[in-house]
Amino acid sequence: MAPERQAVVEITVNEEKCRFSLYDPSGCKRCIEICPLAIFATRPIQKRDFSVPREQRVDPTIWMLLTPWQDYCDGCGACLRACEPGALTITFDGMPIEAKAAGR
Ligand code: SF4
Ligand code: SF4
Repeated sequence: MAPERQAVVEITVNEEKCRFSLYDPSGCKRCIEICPLAIFATRPIQKRDFSVPREQRVDPTIWMLLTPWQDYCDGCGACLRACEPGALTITFDGMPIEAKAAGR
């Protein structure tokens, strides 16, 4: 019997709405804190200045929110409910999980 195919999960962070800040105590980190499967991660941004060596392109003052383990998301919706500005979109095989359906 063929193994069951896993849905393709895509998590998008709207950078204009997101209030994430690693260093600002008032900056939001709710999705990171609430996700039971630790889907989210952060790293400093890299300046797109290719005239300097790679290790010097890191800007430690500005960190970005990433979803490197989105394939493991089970669609529980906890992050959607926690994200006040509605900065997150999650799709399974292209179908969005509605915040309402997730219990928001
Ligand atoms: S829906 Fe649930 S498992 Fe998926 S990223 Fe959000 S909190 Fe994590
Ligand atoms: S909960 Fe929403 S606003 Fe807060 S860090 Fe996550 S995506 Fe950004």
